[in-house]
Amino acid sequence: KSGFVSIVGRPNVGKSTLMNNVVGEKIAIMSDKPQTTRNTIQAVYTDDESQVVFLDTPGIHKPKNKLGEIMVKAATDAFSNVDLILFVVDSSRKIGPGDRRIMEDLRGSKTPIVLVINKIDQIEDKDELFDIIKMYDDEKMFKEIVPISALKGKNVKTLINVIKEDL
Ligand code: GDP
Ligand code: MG
Repeated sequence: KSGFVSIVGRPNVGKSTLMNNVVGEKIAIMSDKPQTTRNTIQAVYTDDESQVVFLDTPGIHKPKNKLGEIMVKAATDAFSNVDLILFVVDSSRKIGPGDRRIMEDLRGSKTPIVLVINKIDQIEDKDELFDIIKMYDDEKMFKEIVPISALKGKNVKTLINVIKEDL
């Protein structure tokens, strides 16, 4: 099995951390600063039965200038030509305008979308997780929902299996 997977989400949700954890090498630029990842960086995950190319997109944000517009377009293009989209959100922060804007862009997409709820190492109890899921999933636009901790590597294997099943 092989395919292309685009990782989208607002800055700082952990997209680069996730990609690095999946591929097992430091290939994406990581930083606390928003929008450090300027270009779509490709990483390839391979195992006995599959090959998955990951596209890490620059943060989708409201463009403030021409460069911003170009970056947003690059990010939008990145998820129109893939087999699967991972929409990564940060469970330690409230759903914000950045998340809503991306969901608006994704709404009409024919490509299946997996909601990846990251940073669950910061969640205190299960009820909190259910509330987060409810908040994002009220329109039922996601094929699967996978809570993970990209930093701790928690549930990342499960996510890879979900991705492989959906390719
Ligand atoms: P990106 O902008 O979406 O690519 O986000 P990054 O991968 O650069 O991560 C932003 C910040 O969140 C970094 O300081 C990461 O160490 C941190 N981070 C990423 N994943 C996790 C996680 O699962 N748990 C916690 N606690 N922090 C995380
Ligand atoms: Mg990044």
